[in-house]
Amino acid sequence: MHQALHILEHTFGYKTFRPQQAAVIKTLVNGGDALVIMPTGGGKSLCYQIPALVRDGVGVVVSPLIALMQDQVAALRGLGVNAGFINSTLSSQEFFDTERALLAGAIKVLYVAPERLIQPRMLDLLGRCHIALFAIDEAHCVAQWGHDFRSDYLKLDVLQHYFPRVPRMALTATADVRTQQEIVARLGLQNAAQFISGFDRPNIQYRIAPKDKPRNQLLRFLRSEQQGNSGIVYCLSRDKVDKTAQWLREQGFNALAYHAGLPNPFREKHQRQFLRDDNIIMVATIAFGMGIDKPDVRFVAHLDMPKSIEAYYQETGRAGRDGEPATALLLYGFEDVIKLRQMTANSEGNEVFRRQEQHRLNAMLGLCEIASCRRQVLLRYFGDVLDVPCGNCDNCLTPPETWDATEACRMALSCVYRSGQRFGSQHVIDILRGEQTDKIKQYGHTELTTFGIGKKLSENEWRSVLRQLTARGFLDVDLEGFGSLLLNDSCRPILRGEQAIHLRRDNTVTAGVSRGKAAKLAKLSKGEHNVSAEDLPFWFALRACRKRLAEEFGVPPYVIFHDSTLKDMLLKKPTSLLAMRSVSGVGDAKLDKFGAAFLDVMRDFEYPR
Ligand code: ADP
Ligand code: ZN
Repeated sequence: MHQALHILEHTFGYKTFRPQQAAVIKTLVNGGDALVIMPTGGGKSLCYQIPALVRDGVGVVVSPLIALMQDQVAALRGLGVNAGFINSTLSSQEFFDTERALLAGAIKVLYVAPERLIQPRMLDLLGRCHIALFAIDEAHCVAQWGHDFRSDYLKLDVLQHYFPRVPRMALTATADVRTQQEIVARLGLQNAAQFISGFDRPNIQYRIAPKDKPRNQLLRFLRSEQQGNSGIVYCLSRDKVDKTAQWLREQGFNALAYHAGLPNPFREKHQRQFLRDDNIIMVATIAFGMGIDKPDVRFVAHLDMPKSIEAYYQETGRAGRDGEPATALLLYGFEDVIKLRQMTANSEGNEVFRRQEQHRLNAMLGLCEIASCRRQVLLRYFGDVLDVPCGNCDNCLTPPETWDATEACRMALSCVYRSGQRFGSQHVIDILRGEQTDKIKQYGHTELTTFGIGKKLSENEWRSVLRQLTARGFLDVDLEGFGSLLLNDSCRPILRGEQAIHLRRDNTVTAGVSRGKAAKLAKLSKGEHNVSAEDLPFWFALRACRKRLAEEFGVPPYVIFHDSTLKDMLLKKPTSLLAMRSVSGVGDAKLDKFGAAFLDVMRDFEYPR
């Protein structure tokens, strides 16, 4: 372990191991097998990279994320580690060179695509090398019911037969108990030590707010908190993706569109640009997903509600993979509730499947409407327990008010009933508020006993009442597509005045928890720091320097330095190479290569001390 620590410090530039890392590394260094379940951003890469460097021979890393391999290798080379990769993007000359280097023992870490690894030629080549370990990354891909299933992963069990004496490890961020068992069985890891941490992504701040002119909400969020950052904006339809991207460009952002309707070359180009740059907003449908392993995505914003908590967690999980503060913002409205209710009711599949879909949607709606900690609900959904509120979600940061809505709910339900359960929310609201619309006159609804009984609440407040009643299942939406509201049997106790009901008071402002407050709370809860207003110009200068070097070396900016390293520079403001050495993420090789350039930025910049 002495050697492992030396490598941590001098090669990677970090002072201490994270929880679990040391134990995993020790196991592998001593020749044992391991199963490692660690949340994204938890630091899995070091768990195989360091043992590969400590042990004799080459560490072979199996990964399905071909698009990333080149950058992973570039990142390791940047640290002074001899690394290589073998996948379908390699020319035959490049393959030949890699093969020769492997045989000469000149490669310490080799990334290989699974389909390639299981080919006889590759196994034969590896048979002639000294191998330090096999690391099977994204190991959940062996699970046949999972959405990332790869049949090639099933064939990876050849490794234990070909290389019985080489330690093997499987790593993933997403595996429930069933998937863990599947990994152990399929990959022959019955004797492996298990290192299992929870699902929590503490650096992601969850915020969910009702829609109130959603474009303005998004704009406020981007302008006040995410200037110049990378992020993803998810929309449900292709048309909305195109229009939103266009509109964001008009507002001065670098926004690109991505959906299955765009020609392939476009999609690839946009994806590449997103991965390469550090300030692109990708507006996308959920077609934009697998393989988006970009570490420095600072936010994921949903302009439409995902249809389940699984989908929400996976999509928001693309933010903050580098472990730095990131934000997940969801804006949802009554239309979303109605649309999704109808979609699940009309979806293909049998009754059981539809009922499951309804349950999933209900759980998602529940998450949107709760007034307590979002993270506790999210984690509980996946079987994890968080004992205390997280302090890093909108409900923790700005606790929402609730109000006794018993009377209002009775009015609304009774109005739906009296008007014949044939009308949508707008008309019901108009009746409650006593509006003289054409439709009201046409149906003679001024005669209803509920006409005008709800003038005390605004149109928005009524919308919130109806949305929450629907989300909680007291109201149903008709399935024909007109969005008429219907009473559900469960609402009877409320109508009869036997059940009190409290609702959340909508606070559309929580969508933009003020920068100061978010920063302060992030700091309090995790000792992390966001960039303060006075440091911003300096921050942008450091990023410009990183960008320049990234272009010079032909790598993405995060390969030069992670955001966390630039933030540590901001904090320490080093003025000598020696001081630069103490910045987290600055190892020997990077100090040599980039230290001087960043010192120039420091000197050039007249920051107050
Ligand atoms: P994962 O693969 O689990 O998603 P990574 O291996 O990419 O996570 O690590 C996430 C981030 O944490 C990276 O920026 C990495 O450099 C950083 N990191 C990992 N281990 C440490 C450590 N011991 N000290 C400081 N930073 C670390
Ligand atoms: Zn919370």
